[in-house]
Amino acid sequence: MNQHFTAAVIDEFDKPLDIREVDLPEPGRFQALVRNIASGICHTDVHASKGDWPIKPDLPLIPGHEGVGEVVKLGPGEHTVEVGDIVGNVWLWSACGTCEFCRTGRETFCNEAEFGGYTVDGSFGEYMLVDTRYCARIPEGSDPVEVAPILCAGVTVYKALKVSGASPGQFVVISGIGGLGHLAVQYAVAMGMRVIAVDIADDKLNLAKRHGAEFTVNARSEDPAEAVTEYTSGGAHAVIVTAVHPDAFGQAVGMARKAGTIVFNGLPAGEFPASIFDIVLNGLTIRGSLVGTRQDLEEALDFYARGKINPTVKEVELGDVNEIIHGLVDGVIDGRRVIRY
Ligand code: NAD
Ligand code: ZN
Ligand code: ZN
Repeated sequence: MNQHFTAAVIDEFDKPLDIREVDLPEPGRFQALVRNIASGICHTDVHASKGDWPIKPDLPLIPGHEGVGEVVKLGPGEHTVEVGDIVGNVWLWSACGTCEFCRTGRETFCNEAEFGGYTVDGSFGEYMLVDTRYCARIPEGSDPVEVAPILCAGVTVYKALKVSGASPGQFVVISGIGGLGHLAVQYAVAMGMRVIAVDIADDKLNLAKRHGAEFTVNARSEDPAEAVTEYTSGGAHAVIVTAVHPDAFGQAVGMARKAGTIVFNGLPAGEFPASIFDIVLNGLTIRGSLVGTRQDLEEALDFYARGKINPTVKEVELGDVNEIIHGLVDGVIDGRRVIRY
C-alpha cells in the first residue's frame, strides 16, 4: 500500500485548506484504516477552518466527519467490522463508554469523546481512521455519495426532532434549509409532522417545498414569527434551528407555540436576544442538541435505507473544497456537496 495519500489540511485558521500528501496512519487499538469513497462537507468544517468556536481544534487538522469508505486494515483488538466492510466516520468519533453520560444513553456529551475531523483527523482525504466501536455501518445498497450527509446532518436533525417531543400531526418549523435543514424537512415529513420551512433564500425554500414542507417563510422579506403564528393559529409545537446566523435563534422564540420546544442545532459564533417574559409566560423549552448516539445514527440510516430520505447532493472533488467553503459562508449551496474520491 502507498505510504502517503492526498488530503485537505487546515494549517492556519481562516486560510484556504492546503491540498497535499500526508503520511498514511497506522490503525491503533480498536481502530480501522478506511479507504474513502465519499465525504460530505458540513458547515461545521467551515467553523473548524475559521476557528469560529471557543474550543478550537489543534492544527494541522484534516477536517470532515461525513466520510464513507471501505475498511482496508484493522488495528489490534476485537472488531465488529471486517476488511471490505463499508463504514463511515462521524462527529462522535469515540467516547469512553463508562462515564455517567455514556452509561445513560447520552454518549455525545462524554467528556472524553473525540470528534471526527475536529479533535482527530477526518474524511477530507483518501484515507481516514475510525474507531470500529463508534463508526457508522453503512446499510447495504446505499449510494456512498447520497448516504454521506446522513452521517452528520441526517442524524443531527433526526435526533433534534426526537428530543423536540413533537408528535405526528403537529407543526414543526425548520429554520435554516441548508445541509441539515433540507434533511430535517424530510425526516419531519417521514415522522408524520406538518413542516414549515424558514430561510433567507427563496431557492432554499423551494427545495424545502420539493421535500415536503407545506408552508415557507422568507425571513428576509417577512416577519417569520408573525407568518408562522398566523399559519399555525398560535405557533409551532416545535422549532428546530439549523441556521448559521444568530438572528434565527432569537426569532425562534416568536415562532413557538405556548409550551412548545425550541431545539438549537446551528452553531454560529455569537449570542441571541430573547425576551425572558415571553419564555416564562409561554412556558417554552429551549434546548441544544448535539449530533446523535450510535443508536440514533442507526435509526437515521434506516430511514434512508427504507427510501424515506432523499438527500439533495452534488458530487465534487477534493480540490474543490475551498470553493465549497466559500459557497457555504455565502449561503449559496443547496443541499449537500459531497467529495467523491
Ligand atoms: P448550511 O450552510 O448548509 O446551511 C445553513 C442554512 O442557514 C442556509 O440555508 C442559510 O441560507 C440559512 N440561514 C442563514 N441565515 C439565516 C437566517 N437568519 N434565518 C434562517 N436561515 C438562515 O449549514 P449546515 O451544514 O446545514 O450546518 C448548519 C449549522 O449546524 C452549522 O452551524 C453547523 O456547525 C451546525 N451543526 C450542528 C450540529 C449539531 O450536532 N448540533 C451538527 C452538524 C452541524
Ligand atoms: Zn457536521
Ligand atoms: Zn464517556
